[in-house]
Amino acid sequence: MTQYQPRAGHNANNELTNILEKREPLPGNFERDGQASRHGCCDGIENFNLKPHELVAYLDQYIIRQDKAKIVLATKICTHFNRISYLKNHAGVYQDALEAGFIKNNILLIGPTGVGKTYLIKLIADRLGVPFVKADATKFSETGYVGGDVEDLVRELVQEADGDINKAQYGIIYLDEIDKIAASPGLLGPDVSRSGVQRALLKPMEDTMVSLKHPHDPLSQIQAIEQFRRTGKVENKNISTRHILFIMSGAFAGLAAIIQRRMNRNALGFASKIQPQARNEDYLAHISNQDLVDFGFENEFIGRLPVTAILQSLSKDDLAQIMRNPNNAVMLSKRRDFAAYGINLFFTRQALEILAGQAEALTTGARAVVSVLEQALTTFEHALPAHPRIRELAVTGQLVEDPETALTELLAHPQDQPIEEAIQNTRQDLIEYLGRLRDKGLLTLARDYWDAAVAEFFNSVLALNQAVFRIQERLAIINGFEQEFKEKQQMSVEFSPEARKAILAQGNAMPKFLAELGQVLIPGLSLVNNRLGIDSFILPALAVNDTESYLRHIFEDYYQKKL
Ligand code: ADP
Repeated sequence: MTQYQPRAGHNANNELTNILEKREPLPGNFERDGQASRHGCCDGIENFNLKPHELVAYLDQYIIRQDKAKIVLATKICTHFNRISYLKNHAGVYQDALEAGFIKNNILLIGPTGVGKTYLIKLIADRLGVPFVKADATKFSETGYVGGDVEDLVRELVQEADGDINKAQYGIIYLDEIDKIAASPGLLGPDVSRSGVQRALLKPMEDTMVSLKHPHDPLSQIQAIEQFRRTGKVENKNISTRHILFIMSGAFAGLAAIIQRRMNRNALGFASKIQPQARNEDYLAHISNQDLVDFGFENEFIGRLPVTAILQSLSKDDLAQIMRNPNNAVMLSKRRDFAAYGINLFFTRQALEILAGQAEALTTGARAVVSVLEQALTTFEHALPAHPRIRELAVTGQLVEDPETALTELLAHPQDQPIEEAIQNTRQDLIEYLGRLRDKGLLTLARDYWDAAVAEFFNSVLALNQAVFRIQERLAIINGFEQEFKEKQQMSVEFSPEARKAILAQGNAMPKFLAELGQVLIPGLSLVNNRLGIDSFILPALAVNDTESYLRHIFEDYYQKKL
């Protein structure tokens, strides 16, 4: 096989800045999460085989800090599903005996508001493909009809699973504000009912049957009568809570003080472990069941929550990191709010630092990120759509500190914005982030194409993982092109990384571009093949950017060598 490889110097310069200069119009609709395949567990629980470290690595892509909680949750939740899978695979004579000793890994999450409790569980449910419902435990004490409320949640799980009972029976029920159903010792009245709520939760947390028909729902009753008339049978669809994972969470104000008192009583054993300036979290790390009983929980209730995970409060640096995370949903949704008006939003690092400081002062964890972004940007979201010439907004430290003045200055001198600085700051974060993913073995996209993913992040207003996914899809299309060339033209064509980058630089227009490229390349390379007998090509960027020059070079090279 005769192969043609170009001389050095034919490569076109298509650095990131060039890609960005060709900024595409913003798309009207956006891709959903571009994560690669999931270990869906419920379509075949027997095949569930996700390992705790894989789940932690997944969570690391989204959750800042909370390392201990990530490990505890990932481990216990993976074990929960792997154990069910094991039981299913060993179904038969031993199953009853095996299931008899089954103690569910129900989980208690303790941590202040907005530090990632719900987010962690949602991400896990999403990754595992299991249905997830969330409710506040406070609602139970109000209605006094706890059993019914829990049954409603189980039925909601079935809805979440699109009516698939098999899927719903492996779902996750998340109860927030569980600390509000703790009884204050020595008090009567509402506290008695709180203990009652705890007791009413015991059975569902372990194993109980829930009818899918709501007992007081007239529609369900009419359907049942109708069915009986047709079939002569009373069909009762039930779902067992045996494998449903219950996760309870709360801020537990005052619990650290209870632990501190206990530790001081036993000062001999513990004094050396806790520093005098210890924070709440330092005490919470030493939590015991007795502390939770002292807080107002029944022993039996605590007994059904064998796993505890403590989440830390988030510092200013953590909040800045959350905002710099290229998959952060809050930042993405703000970028999209502006994209809806055709405006690209960029943040300088200094702006993120200042926003993080403002967010920390609000003491609502990462929830405050939404508030400080609104505070800084609402003025612009209102004013800029009236100025169609302004297509970009660089969010700077000065803008965050004084949005009104920054707006006046922007309208007077729109070209003075430090757009390049903001793009470079973000680009650096994105490249570093991809580097960390690669180091952990979580990224298959070759280094050559990271700039293309970064450009896609900006141009199409995507999270970085979605952008990476898109680039991988486009590379697969390029591979398909090569394959087809081989099959239909009987010639081997391979795009060099530089050529691939040049094709990827076409962004959304890539499929059309490839089709047009084919129309020039096919006759051109066929001619080369006929005249010179070359049937294998490694194509440089020039073959993509200026195909005719490339073809001319092949002939020139050939005849020069002949001379
Ligand atoms: P809570 O701890 O009160 O359940 P959430 O998990 O609902 O708080 O957090 C609210 C939002 O803040 C999340 O949707 C997420 O965007 C962000 N967030 C919270 N904690 C973190 C974290 N540790 N890392 C990244 N984002 C976080």
